[in-house]
Parts: sequence; C-alpha cells; structure tokens
Amino acid sequence: MDIFYTNTRDASEQVTASQAILNGLAKNGGLYVPTVIPKLDIPMEELSQMTYQETAYAVMSRFLTDFTEEELKNCIRNAYDSKFDTKEIAPLVYADGAYYLELFHGATIAFKDMALSILPHLLITSARKNHVKNDIVILTATSGDTGKAAMAGFADVEGTKIIVFYPKDGVSPVQEKQMLTQKGKNTYVVGIRGNFDEAQTGVKKMFSDPQMNAQINGAGYQFSSANSINIGRLVPQIVYYVYAYAKLFANQKIEKDEKINVVVPTGNFGNILAAYYAKNMGLPIDRLICASNENKVLFDFFRTGEYNRNREFILTSSPSMDILISSNLERLIYRIAGNNAKDNLALMQELSGEGKYTITPDMKKQLDTFYGNYSSEQETAETIRTLYENTGYVIDTHTAVAAGVYRKYAAETNDTKKTVIASTASPFKFARSVMEAIDPKYQDSSDFDLIDKLSEIANVKIPQAIEDIRSAPVLHHTVCEVDEMPAVVKNILKIGE
Ligand SMILES: *Cc1c(COP(=O)(O)O)cnc(C)c1O
Repeated sequence: MDIFYTNTRDASEQVTASQAILNGLAKNGGLYVPTVIPKLDIPMEELSQMTYQETAYAVMSRFLTDFTEEELKNCIRNAYDSKFDTKEIAPLVYADGAYYLELFHGATIAFKDMALSILPHLLITSARKNHVKNDIVILTATSGDTGKAAMAGFADVEGTKIIVFYPKDGVSPVQEKQMLTQKGKNTYVVGIRGNFDEAQTGVKKMFSDPQMNAQINGAGYQFSSANSINIGRLVPQIVYYVYAYAKLFANQKIEKDEKINVVVPTGNFGNILAAYYAKNMGLPIDRLICASNENKVLFDFFRTGEYNRNREFILTSSPSMDILISSNLERLIYRIAGNNAKDNLALMQELSGEGKYTITPDMKKQLDTFYGNYSSEQETAETIRTLYENTGYVIDTHTAVAAGVYRKYAAETNDTKKTVIASTASPFKFARSVMEAIDPKYQDSSDFDLIDKLSEIANVKIPQAIEDIRSAPVLHHTVCEVDEMPAVVKNILKIGE
C-alpha cells in the first residue's frame, strides 16, 4: 500500500514521503502527516529475532513507500553503524521497577542522534528521487544539542553542506566545545552576537528570502532544514519503540500481546508522538505518559484541554525540554480533530494570535491514552539520587524528569504494567547537574573532574564523544552580528554580491 502525506493545515496538499522529507515544512506553516498509519503486520516472533537495522527496515518501509528496498537499506546501513558505541544501538536497562531504553549511544550521546544519523541519507536519497540537481545546504539555528547532532549526521555526506548558527554566549561550555571541534569538509559553525530566538529568526528569514534563494539556486544550491518537524526525523523514532517491545518479548519479560506503558520526557512532542504512532501501528502500548519539567504546558493541556503558552519561561536543569510551544503536538491535534485541516488551522491561528487555544470535549475524550504530569527541579534531583542509591544506575536530568513522573503515575493509579522509560541523554552530557544531585559536595569541582568522578561512581566508561572534546582542536572561529548572517552564508557558498 502506498502511503501519502498531507498538510495538517491544507487538505488539498498531498505529497509522497520523499517530497515531504525534502520540503520539511508543508505550505502555510502546516506539518506533513501520513494519510493513514500503516499496520505492523509482522508476527512478534519474527520481530523479536531482528537486529536494530532489520527492525528499522520493517518499520520505515511501511511509511516511506516510495523508497526502494535498496535505497532504504542503504540509508539504514549508513546511519546505524559504528557511530553507535553498542551493536544493540538502543539497549534496555532494568532498574528499580522500570526498563530504561537508552537512546544515547550515538555520536553526540543524546536521543537526537537516533533520527539525525539517518536524516541526511533520507534527504539525499529524496533529492535524487525527485531529480534535484542542486547541492543541499542545511541551515540550522541551535540552542545547543540539535546543531551538534545535525552536524555529526551530515559531516562529509556527499552533496550537502551544513551551516549551524548558535548564540555565542547562550550555550554550555561543553556544548560549545562539541560544536567548535566538529570535523568534516562540509560543516560550518557560526556564533552570533544575539540569543537563540534571533538566530532562529535569522535562519527563517533566509529560508523565505526570494532574492537570496534565487542567488543560491544560480550557484547550484538549495536550502533545507534538519528541524524536528521533518517527517524524516519522526519516522526513524518509531523504530525504537517497536525494537524495545520486541526485545522485552524475546527476553521473556512480557507475554505475547501483553500491554506495556511508555514514559517520555517531552519538549517538542516529537519523541512521544513517535510512540503514539507505534501504538497506532498496532504495538501493544497502553498508556503514553508525557513527562514535563517545570515548563508544564503539556501537563496543563492534558488536564484541562487548554493549551496556553502565555507564562513565564523557566530555565531548568533539563534544558532540551525548556519549551513552551511543542510543535509536534499539532500532528496530534489534527488527528483528534478527525483529520480535519480546517479545524486544526483555526486552533493554530489562535495559538499564534493569542498564544492559546482550547480543544472541544469530543477531542479531549480521545486523549485518554495519554497521561501528563511533571517533575519539579527538586523532584528531578531527588529521583537521580535515590535511583543511584538504590541501584547504582545513574540517569541524566531529562530521563529523571520522566522517572519522577512515572513514580507519580504508579502511585496514583496502582498500574503495575511493565513500563519502558525513554532515556534521552547520557548522564555525562549533564555531569554537573547529575553529580550535584547525587551529592552537593561536588559543587566546587571542575567539569572534567566531575566527568571522571561520574565514570568512577557509575562504573561506566567515559563516552568517546566526551573524550573527543577534551583534546580536540577548535576548528571553527566565525562569529558575526545577527544582520550579517546572510553575508556569512554567501561567503561560505562563495557567492558574490
Ligand atoms: C530533544 C530532547 C528531548 C525532548 O524531545 P522532544 O521530541 O522534543 O519531545 C528530551 N530529552 C533530550 C535529552 C533531548 O535532547
């Protein structure tokens, strides 16, 4: 069966998977969604014997139906290889009543690698399929994590260049060093004298500037985006939920068709939406537990049916979840509105106008499968400490938000179903917050001392990604003003005025 993708804001737009990946964003600011969710029509006995790569093919081939078998298998082979430090790619670890699905074994030790290691290959394949002759120039604004993961994915991928803009004084020292040491002939990192919003606005302006687009087209280039709303990032994220379930079955932790719960630390709503799609494919998932930090817009939404971004933005120790507009939620809204683009568009217009909207009681009823809650900063630190004290297992701050919410859920509901918690970052990436949660005495230690200490107490080898930045030379030096961003891009692409 061929699967097509339609626009959540305009029912008249319908494209193939490769076109959706190439375009990134649909017209009118809408998002692409599959017109039907394909069924996972493979027996669990068979799935349970598959490697990660085989599972990836089984799941992704059902969504990306205009890719040939050879094309898709090539993308998968190039993505899930020795960049990951374990053959399992996404191992499951049992600790204190839950299974932690470790999604941080890729190049930048956070879960963005799961999708960003394959997106470049999907994008290049999509360009070829649609007879695009230009080289693809990825423009990305980053608040720290996405830029590095995107560069690691695109580095030395034939036919692409990637330019990352970040706020010069707005990322952590480890994040900055990770970016500035990035290798690859086609990678460019630029610090801007401004904040993340200004970087993002600058990038969006370039995307929609007709004169600039004509100029770069003339030179054999076109812009594209590695943003998390690209369907090419969403589909690869469905894979690990299927893989985790199949591994639990293979290891006789669950019976055939036994339902499990899934807990996801949520920011932009991409990761948990992938779990929802996995459930809709037929994977036996019961509750989808949506965990927020103190920026608890989603908790309030699931409770009241009102989405309201008009509130203070709180900086937390789980920065990748500090977000007030969860872009991918639009795909769920569209669906519970009965796949109605008009109704969805009206709500999204209210969001951009008044910063809020309320769904109908009918729509709210369809959210029963979700449970939302949040962890305060103090609860998150306590979760890290008690899990370590009880089991010796050390988790990062984002994962701890999820583990804390799972505890609340279990206490409230007495639900004893087996539960998988998405573990989205290595504790080494947030070593300071993690170590200070375990013992305040670490407050005075340097960043790299804390990393050594963490390795010691957790009995886990320091990941290569961290070792690399200790000694790696800084390769990128460009810094510019916000209004110089277009000139910097033209300079990189060697385009004269
Ligand atoms: C991006 C990110 C999240 C949030 O994922 P969404 O798909 O945006 O909901 C959670 N944890 C970490 C470590 C991340 O990098």
